[in-house]
Amino acid sequence: MGGGEREQGKQGDERIAVTGAGGFLGHHLVRRLKRQGHWVRGIDLKEPEFAPSEADEFKLLDLRLADHCLAATKDVDAVFALAADMGGMGYLSVHHARVLHNNALINLHTLEAARRNGASRYLFASSACVYPESRQTDAEATPLREPDAYPAAPQDAYGWEKLVSERALGYFAAEYGIAGRIVRLHNVYGPLGTYDGGREKAPAALCRKVAMARDGDRIDVWGDGLQTRSFCYVDDCVEGLLRVMWGDHPGPLNLGSEQLVTVNALAGLIIDISGRKNLSINHIEGPQGVRGRNSDNTLLRETLGWEPSTPLEDGLVPTYRWIESMVGR
Ligand code: NAD
Repeated sequence: MGGGEREQGKQGDERIAVTGAGGFLGHHLVRRLKRQGHWVRGIDLKEPEFAPSEADEFKLLDLRLADHCLAATKDVDAVFALAADMGGMGYLSVHHARVLHNNALINLHTLEAARRNGASRYLFASSACVYPESRQTDAEATPLREPDAYPAAPQDAYGWEKLVSERALGYFAAEYGIAGRIVRLHNVYGPLGTYDGGREKAPAALCRKVAMARDGDRIDVWGDGLQTRSFCYVDDCVEGLLRVMWGDHPGPLNLGSEQLVTVNALAGLIIDISGRKNLSINHIEGPQGVRGRNSDNTLLRETLGWEPSTPLEDGLVPTYRWIESMVGR
């Protein structure tokens, strides 16, 4: 079966492990892999929160433990390594030690286990957080290209760990012949993502605040709201994960949208979608992360002949509607 057939999702006959399958991206990815006909094992500390997993087998395992990683990656052709201790800025800017410890253990043990079990392909979900803060001090962000990650100075412990795990996969690929694939994800959003509890990211948090607001309320936005980001719709992200996995590019690839918006504009779009014109924005103190960040998809386009294309204003509609239904309006 050629890569092209796989990209179009017509059929599949691989045995695939998806770690983090109880989480947002992992759950969507499992669903898509099943539609393509693959055999899928999902692995996580927890079952998916909002809908049952469609995996053929779902194992509750703690991937910080080497023997659990061996069970997770047994008898599979390919591993999508998505498990991470993770959250939005409100989480990652506080829990540095815990995040570094947990994610380093997860990634080193999963990679070594995949090697020992003879998996032939391995995709690591890295992050735009690997890029140096010094390149992200301006709201009119110059889009980040893959080589910009060096000289290394990631934003926080989460970013440092991602960068080390990228390197680890590169070394394992070179020394042991596993086909390593690395995507640097930029702010993915969509239905079935965490929207409360402290780990949620800006789009989901703002959708929740708008959906729960009473008429005339002001919606809290952290900082002055002029910080900028690009946001990638989950269906585009899953499509990209599949294309990169079955493609042949060995180094890191940005996987994000190039549509840069301020957080104020993001909040405005969500208010528009809600149809509640009498809400306004209230700026409060809070962690903002870097001032401006955008993805440069040049290498992704050259490599895959494809890039994420869902406009933010379109992807936010199902996202808002789902969160609105969850908070009971
Ligand atoms: P998520 O938090 O929804 O999913 C991660 C899953 O990993 C969770 O279900 C969690 O329970 C699981 N996990 C954590 N520790 C574990 C352990 N010890 N053993 C087994 N499972 C464990 O996050 P997501 O948004 O689906 O992100 C998936 C991957 O993509 C992560 O690696 C994340 O760092 C990366 N990423 C995501 C984004 C984004 O915007 N969503 C951006 C950049 C990078």
